[in-house]
Amino acid sequence: MSTKTEIINIEQIRKDFPILSTQMNGKPLVYLDNAASTQKPQSVIDRLTKFYRDEYATVSRGVYALSQQATIECMQVREKCAQLLNAAKSEEIVFVRGATEGINLIASAYGEKFLKPGDEVIVSNIEHHANFVPWQQLCKKVGAAFKVIPVNDAGELLLDEYKQLLTDKTKIVAVGQVSNALGTINPIKEIVALAHGVGAITVIDGAQGVPHLKTDVQDIDADFYVFSGHKIFAPTGIGVVYGKEKLLEAMDPYQYGGEMVQSVSIEETTFAQVPQKFEAGTTAFAQIIGLGAALDYVNKIGLDNIAAYEHELLLEATKKLEAVEGLRIIGTAVNKASVISFELKDIHPHDIGTIVDQEGVAIRTGHHCAQPTMQRFGVPATARASFCFYNTKEEIDALVAAIEKVKQVFS
Ligand code: PLP
Repeated sequence: MSTKTEIINIEQIRKDFPILSTQMNGKPLVYLDNAASTQKPQSVIDRLTKFYRDEYATVSRGVYALSQQATIECMQVREKCAQLLNAAKSEEIVFVRGATEGINLIASAYGEKFLKPGDEVIVSNIEHHANFVPWQQLCKKVGAAFKVIPVNDAGELLLDEYKQLLTDKTKIVAVGQVSNALGTINPIKEIVALAHGVGAITVIDGAQGVPHLKTDVQDIDADFYVFSGHKIFAPTGIGVVYGKEKLLEAMDPYQYGGEMVQSVSIEETTFAQVPQKFEAGTTAFAQIIGLGAALDYVNKIGLDNIAAYEHELLLEATKKLEAVEGLRIIGTAVNKASVISFELKDIHPHDIGTIVDQEGVAIRTGHHCAQPTMQRFGVPATARASFCFYNTKEEIDALVAAIEKVKQVFS
């Protein structure tokens, strides 16, 4: 009988990522900061190199072949993004710089237009700042109430409390698909349905979801969904906003400038159709092309295979870390992605991070841009190991051995 592990050809996959065979501080690099950003496969690096070397030209403007080819490829990547999310059409895909810009776009272009004083916006206690601060600031600006769904000690959203927060004044519910600090996978389909029950629209922060879970925005019925390319093997500086077409059409532009207009005169400007209406200026077309290569890579492996293997890594790492005396995992939801936040005795997370780095192990330490989450759990910061399908069980052992070194230093 084949095990899940066999679905992933780990040896081949590791060869696809050149950085994984390098050394750090004289030890084999063990890269466990995938929730912050993923490494890039050779196919993405090659695609970018080829584009810059042989095919480079700006998009949407040129009548010459080079420019037209680049334009066509960018349109194809928009289509690939629509397929990734199962959007109804590629016009519902807006290119932005990343999840942060995407959420700010929605907060400004939808929130500022449609919210009135007295309206309400709901987020959760375990959001990344990118899906917290824009809504908090929007509420201050328009005089709306800002409400926060609490979580239990495992880091799971309290749905009964969420239902209590929903009223006919709730206009926006913004929740992450997966918590970057705790790994909790939120029941977003249920959250969306409950929001729609009171007539609110929903914004799903998919930054930690889309690289690890098959996502279907039509099935979820999300009104908006955002993600960042650099967390799904693509270059930095590119991200996506999915929005239902009728909502995108109802919104005013977020930024003004070239490419987002239909015609401009001294008296009047008319705007381009969706999605170009939201893509002012020269788009990050090289990064878009890199994103296309990254999605091809992900599709080749298959998100179901990725999710199954990463779940195995999560179970193995959880078991081994729980066995480390003095280590406490923060975020123990039943439904979790491969992110493990922890504290170790009273050792400062930055000390943990610095010492394990000496062993070649790269983990994240700090508040993970989720200070309200840290406050909920009564810690200023945690150490966080986040796993990707190119990680191995041997690397989990390397992490555990490095943590034992930390304990020795502080014994
Ligand atoms: N949302 C979540 C859950 C994240 O983890 C992150 C980044 O860590 C973001 C949003 C922001 O992404 P970016 O910095 O790429 O805009």
